[in-house]
Amino acid sequence: MSDQPILSNKKILLIDDDKFLLDMYAVKFSKAGYEVKAVDSTDGGLKLMRQGYAPQVMLVDIVMPGMDGLDFVNTVRKENLVPNIVVIMLTNQGSSDDVSRATKLGVDGYIVKATTIPSEVLNEVERIINSKQKSN
Ligand SMILES: [Mg+2]
Repeated sequence: MSDQPILSNKKILLIDDDKFLLDMYAVKFSKAGYEVKAVDSTDGGLKLMRQGYAPQVMLVDIVMPGMDGLDFVNTVRKENLVPNIVVIMLTNQGSSDDVSRATKLGVDGYIVKATTIPSEVLNEVERIINSKQKSN
């Protein structure tokens, strides 16, 4: 596999209360050809999905005010809002509790924020999407 991301037309939903990171990831994924929606709260994400927005992949921060990222994923699944969506969590370094909760939920992958630069986030997301497609 090449290191260059394949130009994608996939829809991606980004959810993070850190607006700086949110903007940075939004720019990165847009430049790679993704159709990006970025919201700074789980409420915003739920609202979009309940209105019928159906992205192929979502990148969700765990630690957020209000409903956290893992409860958000749980809700999306319970309401069956977007079946087969690829779920990738954004975690903070050293937060093993978050990782074990994410593992229990059976998410498709997680990315440690502080140690991962945006181009690596893009590559990792594409790797996870591709590996999920192969396993389906
Ligand atoms: Mg956060």
